[in-house]
Amino acid sequence: MSPGGGFSPEMMESRITFVELDAATSNLELRSSPFKKTASNLSGNHGISSTNDVHELLECPVCMNLMYPPIHQCPSGHTLCSSCKARVHNCCPTCRQELGNIRCLALEKVAESLELPCRYQILGCHDIFPYYGKLKHEKNCKHRPFNCPYAGAECSVTGDIPFLVMHLKDGHKVDMHDGSTFNHRYVKSNPQDIENATWMLTVFNCFGRQFCLHFEAFQLGMAPVYMAFLRFMGDEDDAKQFSYSLEVGGNGRKLIWQGVPRSIRDSHRKVRDSQDGLIIQRSLALFFSGGNGNKQELKLKVAGRIWREN
Ligand SMILES: [Zn+2]
Ligand SMILES: [Zn+2]
Ligand SMILES: [Zn+2]
Ligand SMILES: [Zn+2]
Repeated sequence: MSPGGGFSPEMMESRITFVELDAATSNLELRSSPFKKTASNLSGNHGISSTNDVHELLECPVCMNLMYPPIHQCPSGHTLCSSCKARVHNCCPTCRQELGNIRCLALEKVAESLELPCRYQILGCHDIFPYYGKLKHEKNCKHRPFNCPYAGAECSVTGDIPFLVMHLKDGHKVDMHDGSTFNHRYVKSNPQDIENATWMLTVFNCFGRQFCLHFEAFQLGMAPVYMAFLRFMGDEDDAKQFSYSLEVGGNGRKLIWQGVPRSIRDSHRKVRDSQDGLIIQRSLALFFSGGNGNKQELKLKVAGRIWREN
């Protein structure tokens, strides 16, 4: 593709099936991401060697997760994390004694003195964090894996962008298109059947990056609407370097939306609920489609363009 190159509209007709949630989910081949596995295996092995033993002490012997205050212990000194404590009915899982309510302040203090690498070190994060700051960082680490951007199904796959692009293609059979301009036609023969669960996704590949175009029908308050919006497969800072426009029209009228793609760090639902996209009332959509009868087909032509801001 040539950035800023000529407008060469490719007409793509998507005869939307408006797949329903369950049907879509059952077709999925839910693979779990290699990153997820790697990430969870990481904890435990990355302390500087002198702190390795302490690090091991901080692993809850029951659930094997790292422990955070309040860390508990039984009268004989066996430690366990607070969520395990809540589950073991006041009985030490190691020695079966009554647990009581003893906190292990010494271990909590020792943990405070530790510094550990981010769990996403293997994905490129090279920062070191105080034990208690690590979790907070990891929630926002820019190297953390992304969630699958596919909407409408509870897909738990995570990974980096190249992995997710492959996953969308193979796992969700999503349409992929090269280029920064597009002409999409959305067709539905019985538009009265709109349910919340109707949506579709196309992925555009341009400027060496990938963008998800969402198109869906849902109920906004009392009004049935169609909405189209773009999400960027990457972090928000990078998303802001791009803009996009969407145009839909017919019968001599036209609606134009210009926006900034949202990062896929923002869930599909969040973007939809913030109405950050092109929203078309159904009555207008049917008007754009050409007819005026009740039994009419929805035929929306949506033209779009993505470009890079300087
Ligand atoms: Zn535990
Ligand atoms: Zn015990
Ligand atoms: Zn990190
Ligand atoms: Zn997925």
